Amino acid sequence: MAESAETDWVSRFADEVITEAGRRAPGKPIVCASGLSPSGPIHLGNLREVMTPHLVADEIRRRGVECVHLLSWDDYDRFRRVPAGVDPSWAEHIGKPLTSVPAPPGSSYANWAEHFKAPMIQALEELGVEYRGISQTEQYTRGAYREQILLAVRERAKIDAVLSRYRSKQVEEYFPYKPYCDLCERDLTTVTAYDDATTELAYTCECGFGETVRLAEHDRGKLVWKVDWPMRWAYEGVVFEPSGVDHHSPGSAWIVGDQIVGKVFGGRQPIGPMYAFVGITGMAKMSSSKGDVPTPADALEIMEAPVLRWLYARRKPAQSFKIAFDQEIQRLYDEWDALGRKIAEGQGQPAELAAYRRAVGTAAGPLPATPHPVPYRTLASIVDVTTGDAEQTLRILRDLDAIETLDEARPRLDRAQRWVDAHVPAGERTRVREEPDEELLDSLGQAERESLRLLSDGLDDWSLDSLTTLVYGVPKLQAGLPADAKATPELKAAQRAFFALLYRLLVGRDTGPRLPTLLLSIGADRVRKLVGT
Ligand SMILES: [Zn+2]
Repeated sequence: MAESAETDWVSRFADEVITEAGRRAPGKPIVCASGLSPSGPIHLGNLREVMTPHLVADEIRRRGVECVHLLSWDDYDRFRRVPAGVDPSWAEHIGKPLTSVPAPPGSSYANWAEHFKAPMIQALEELGVEYRGISQTEQYTRGAYREQILLAVRERAKIDAVLSRYRSKQVEEYFPYKPYCDLCERDLTTVTAYDDATTELAYTCECGFGETVRLAEHDRGKLVWKVDWPMRWAYEGVVFEPSGVDHHSPGSAWIVGDQIVGKVFGGRQPIGPMYAFVGITGMAKMSSSKGDVPTPADALEIMEAPVLRWLYARRKPAQSFKIAFDQEIQRLYDEWDALGRKIAEGQGQPAELAAYRRAVGTAAGPLPATPHPVPYRTLASIVDVTTGDAEQTLRILRDLDAIETLDEARPRLDRAQRWVDAHVPAGERTRVREEPDEELLDSLGQAERESLRLLSDGLDDWSLDSLTTLVYGVPKLQAGLPADAKATPELKAAQRAFFALLYRLLVGRDTGPRLPTLLLSIGADRVRKLVGT
């Protein structure tokens, strides 16, 4: 093995999975798995279902061990409800497989499932997630699970015995297979008779239709979820598959699956960490036209793939965390850049280094990066002040960081632009004054005028660092203190007052983007005009 173990949670799982796979299926490629239901927009929180096995599979591949990451699209599940924003007439499709429901109006996709899979597939590609997608519609309708279905039906008493431990009332005749009606395609069916010898199965549907089929030849139905999942563990030989908290209560699929997979299918439950909830902050401000469901694609519009990967890599699956669409994203990027610098200097802790490495690339190679990563909060301030004007943005970036083309600052620049446009409320946007606030300027006392003159004199040195020194230094100079004077409460108060004055003169409010960035974005001439010097 090329890597040392025990550096982070991913490495520890990879160790465990490699050992366990060697025991279960020596010499075969290791199988990690995820499952997603394309029943509607796939929530950003569900990305953990894919990222957890992805990171483990990727670590296994980095060690030179063959590993497949299966992604089951649960697209043969029934359509349960019409989400907000979709024509209520779609209710007539409730009970059909997701692949038999028409895509939402205006979609170019063949059906409901394809429509909601597509953006996830694109996001996973951008994230560098390598997987083998499996359509459960395809598997069931081509009879891939025929033997497993017959086995489950034959052993239905055993399954019923497992499930009944968690039931409060008894079910009359338990049957683990649900046919989709041949006439209306819905699953509003009841199995009325089954003959184990001939596999003849009779069902009736709420639509009035009924027929008798031979289960050994029937490919329009599926095992119920609590049987379907353990069946697939055995069928695919899954060694690692995580699941959400909701699958772990007594009687839930993970718990009963553990017993069913062994008793019925002769397989074993995968190593399966329970992953905690991923929350979202700052989405309330978003338009509700999309039903307020943030998707991975939404996150990738405002942050680069490595940053999103990092959020998942650095936290153990059992730790919950939040993905920020609000101001907090600026702090996240500060943290990310600080880690990058630390690692470039050879300073990171092993776990930090591991998470960073998993974020910036995969076993297949590095992910695209921004060649010249200007701090996100600086970019956000610039595009806020310039309202995205490319020429002005380039002028500022050139002054700021010797950037010659905007492409050097991309894709980070585009992400910051998108964040400002979509997630900064109108009331928090910065509007630089066109004309000086003469009334305010006329009302200023001697000391305030002096502070503005000192600022104006210092504007010749036009870099972010010197502007930072300047805005903090003006109140020091006025107090007769040296430039490196420590902050006292009096000095801090004077600095606050000076900053507030500048914000009022420049943007007509008491606060705004960080002053050095704001000054840089506005330009020296316009600053001088607005502060009346
Ligand atoms: Zn029917």
